[in-house]
Amino acid sequence: MEKISRRTFNVKITKAIVGTALLSNLPLSYAFNSGKKQKLGIALVGLGGYAGGQLAPALQNSEHCYLAGIVTGTPSKEEEWMKKYNIPKENIYNYDNFDSIANNEDIDIVYVVLPNSMHAEFCIRAAKAGKHVITEKPMAVSVAECDAIIKSCKENNVKLGVGFRMQTDPYTQEIKRFGKEKPFGDVKYVSSDAGFIAGSWMTPWRLEKKMAGGGALMDMGVYAIQCCIYGAGANPVSISAQEFSTKPEYFKNVDETITSQMKFSNDVVGNMFTSYNANGNRLFVSYERGWAELNPAHSYGPLAGRTSKGEEIKFPYKPQYQQTIQMDAFAKHILTDSPNYAPGEMGKRDLMIIEAIYKSIEQGGKTIPLDLGNMGIVEV
Ligand code: NAD
Repeated sequence: MEKISRRTFNVKITKAIVGTALLSNLPLSYAFNSGKKQKLGIALVGLGGYAGGQLAPALQNSEHCYLAGIVTGTPSKEEEWMKKYNIPKENIYNYDNFDSIANNEDIDIVYVVLPNSMHAEFCIRAAKAGKHVITEKPMAVSVAECDAIIKSCKENNVKLGVGFRMQTDPYTQEIKRFGKEKPFGDVKYVSSDAGFIAGSWMTPWRLEKKMAGGGALMDMGVYAIQCCIYGAGANPVSISAQEFSTKPEYFKNVDETITSQMKFSNDVVGNMFTSYNANGNRLFVSYERGWAELNPAHSYGPLAGRTSKGEEIKFPYKPQYQQTIQMDAFAKHILTDSPNYAPGEMGKRDLMIIEAIYKSIEQGGKTIPLDLGNMGIVEV
């Protein structure tokens, strides 16, 4: 047996760490600093309702990442967040000096939580600064913008994730498992609703097409689309859609209510509903020998589910933000090359479906073919 001296041991360990860093495309600073980089630093860009209400609190209990910095256009929030979350002054940026984040070793991941039309610009600036990127849903306001984000992240050798928190939720995972392991046979039909009743509490950009890219479909529709896809276990091959407006004076230039029908590559058929004027929070999957339902299916949790056997789909309740699991999974993906549950291709695929839905509506509900293959379907 080879006798290992302390020096040989250190050389071997260093080589192993460097090797791991190279294999997983990590900067070498991770290798030489591996003790320090057990947890990756996240900077949140845009400190609105979601960043303040969900992401920042979720980062207080995360295992593989922490709230290291902020980027805000509102000076009064700087002091408030510095105090509340113990953020050092040098990790605070505004939208103008944001690019200098490139020189800040505390920040590994930039998480873009701005209005939808601003995602592409800030994702690309973050990638150019050499930071890994998470962008909120919808990934951007067009397929072309998604392509530009993906290209920039590839060119700058940084990882890209979309804030689809449902992908790492255990209830969602259980529905995916039913599709894969077939305890009720093949999936035949899926249906999902995702909506809420809009009101004056909403920040106004959501009702401006220029900022939001669309209405209910861009905001809540992505949940219904994703529910149908993970329920079916496949991507749609064709889609048709209809738009309904009951309050045109309120929803002046964004969609209020949309229904859509899909056929999937495995012959499953599906139906989705999304609205800014009706509540919906459900996934129903019909199998050859039974059914499963999640309701709620995409709120902040805990979710709830049942099957035709009468069993509740239930996981031991642990008071935990879904976003903690989501951000930890992405940080782990960077640190260990574990799966990326919500890669950029998934966000782009959803925008391709959204664009097909708007096209179908424009053409009076015509069926639009889609050629997605397995794009964005992550096996975990
Ligand atoms: P919000 O309106 O509460 O916050 C938006 C933030 O962007 C604010 O801090 C605002 O000051 C800032 N901002 C910068 N420039 C702006 C401009 N020109 N106009 C308006 N605001 C500007 O919105 P939110 O609810 O936090 O949503 C932000 C993003 O997060 C959206 O993409 C949304 O779809 C997404 N989101 C995701 C989830 C989820 O569950 N994954 C939940 C809510 C929101």
